[in-house]
Amino acid sequence: MPPPESAGAGRYAPSPSGDLHLGNLRTALLAWLFARSTGRRFLLRVEDLDRVRRGAQERQLADLAAIGLDWDGPVVCQSQRLGLYAAAIERLTEAGRTYECFCTRREIQQAASAPHGPMGAYPGLCRDLTDAQRAARRAEGRSPALRLRAEVTEFVIDDELHGRYTGRVDDVVLRRVDGVPAYNLAVVVDDADQGIDQVVRGDDLLPSTPRQAYLASLLGLPAPRYAHVPLVLNEHGQRLAKRDGSVTLEDQRRAGAGADEVAARLIASLGFPPGSAADTLARFDPAILPREPSIFADDGLLRPSGSP
Ligand code: GLU
Repeated sequence: MPPPESAGAGRYAPSPSGDLHLGNLRTALLAWLFARSTGRRFLLRVEDLDRVRRGAQERQLADLAAIGLDWDGPVVCQSQRLGLYAAAIERLTEAGRTYECFCTRREIQQAASAPHGPMGAYPGLCRDLTDAQRAARRAEGRSPALRLRAEVTEFVIDDELHGRYTGRVDDVVLRRVDGVPAYNLAVVVDDADQGIDQVVRGDDLLPSTPRQAYLASLLGLPAPRYAHVPLVLNEHGQRLAKRDGSVTLEDQRRAGAGADEVAARLIASLGFPPGSAADTLARFDPAILPREPSIFADDGLLRPSGSP
């Protein structure tokens, strides 16, 4: 019997742009351990609003099952939930919290690199356009993205591994120029709609989290708790990629390591005795998790960063 909805839920939310690599699999395993070791539901959500590679979703789900993960209920795809995102955007717009932005990437870069421009944040070029200015841009054939009219520049979140974390909030894109809802909006709407009360994901996403929590607060949605977990990097300290060797489960199989063996290695790299995902449930303790990334080496093993 799956846990009741009232127990809360964790989730893993892969983008079906290719096969999961060992770092993705380790994050999924952690998300599962956080949820299942506390008797909560575990949901899978396919984030397919961006680039989708044919067959990737099916292979990703098969790989997650092969390393011993299970999930509750049907897998949800963002492409099937466009109405929910549109409704959230509508609410923000009615509350005066959005504006159209006609900027090209180049215009944003030029303005943001101006001497006093804030680093990395949208410099607000379209924030106060008049109706006439907007009409003129449309007449030039430009289509707008829709941005949040943020009223704070920072927001604070609490993270299980990183503690209290303050991060930048800017006028994030809510709906892209092509009309597709943006990741930062969709993730907030989905987590709340699905009853996710703890988000476990790679710590490369930590800097986006204050924006998302702020957005949740504007929509009157409960912000989940967060646990941003360390990534697996290549030997040069960069994100894992195909060229780094046997980085997927399929590659590992070809190199002679089955899914059980890979799961045991992922678990060992987190500081737990090697075993299956199920064996680790009773031992799982977030307090002992590494805070630093692991390094994937040619031999298929994962080592703590900083070790020889
Ligand atoms: N779809 C994102 C990814 O695969 C994860 C987003 C999230 O967990 O919030 O990187």
